[in-house]
Amino acid sequence: MKKVALVTGSSRGIGAAIASLLAREGWAVCINYLQQREKAEALVFHLREEGCTVLCHQADVSDRAQVDAMVRHTEEELGHVSLLVNNAGIAKQQLFQDIDAETWNRILSVNLGGCFHCSQAVIGPMLKAHSGCIVNISSIWGSHGASCESAYSSSKHAIIGLTRSMAAELAPSGIRVNCVAPGVIDTDMIQALGPDTLEQLRLEMPFKRFGTPEEVARSVLHLATADYITGQVLTVDGGFIF
Ligand code: NAP
Repeated sequence: MKKVALVTGSSRGIGAAIASLLAREGWAVCINYLQQREKAEALVFHLREEGCTVLCHQADVSDRAQVDAMVRHTEEELGHVSLLVNNAGIAKQQLFQDIDAETWNRILSVNLGGCFHCSQAVIGPMLKAHSGCIVNISSIWGSHGASCESAYSSSKHAIIGLTRSMAAELAPSGIRVNCVAPGVIDTDMIQALGPDTLEQLRLEMPFKRFGTPEEVARSVLHLATADYITGQVLTVDGGFIF
């Protein structure tokens, strides 16, 4: 199969770093965004200036029709998707008793539903080609409990279950499914914690610093090219959780 990658939620943060690294490594890449059109278009502009083949597409990964349209656009312009990175995600810090049903459903439908919709939308051509790779972005809170993040943590636990189940089912079809579990990575997502909590957290890190989106991206690239690895969770947290 041609090297065509779809990276969800790649207008900024970890997704933007993954899309950029893959594009520079020769993948033709679809950059997906929800709201930040300017950031996505600026990334497309810079990568094209470097000679990369990229396009961007707005789609809410929790909406199947929008996901299908994005995959159709990618197939028409770049070819069938050979690498899907399910990165789009949202978080909200709240006490368990304060989470309303709308917030709960939104977090589950973007973080977990997005993986389901996007994986189903690209799987047909992968099955036909007997080849393909999916990398899901979970979190260290996908294997450990996180106070005030029960919806987020539930979605990230489920992503690990989905990864392992799909890996078992799809290995005979030549398709690999793996997962990256980042620790605390310096992006917009963690800014909601506030400067004091962030500083306290930084001091608890063994390396006394947060991870960078580029460090997560290199782990995704590794899994994208590691032909004999499937069903695994690669933790990228600077030794924060053992
Ligand atoms: P971020 O800076 O908040 O960026 C989120 C990205 O997801 C943006 O590109 C955003 O698009 C996109 N997005 C949000 N909702 C979407 C939807 N419904 N459909 C399509 N795209 C959507 O987040 P990040 O820190 O880079 O996190 C990326 C992934 O890593 C997430 O799955 C997150 O849970 C996971 N993670 C992050 C950390 C961390 O410490 N940062 C740790 C562990 C795991 P717009 O720009 O258009 O809004």
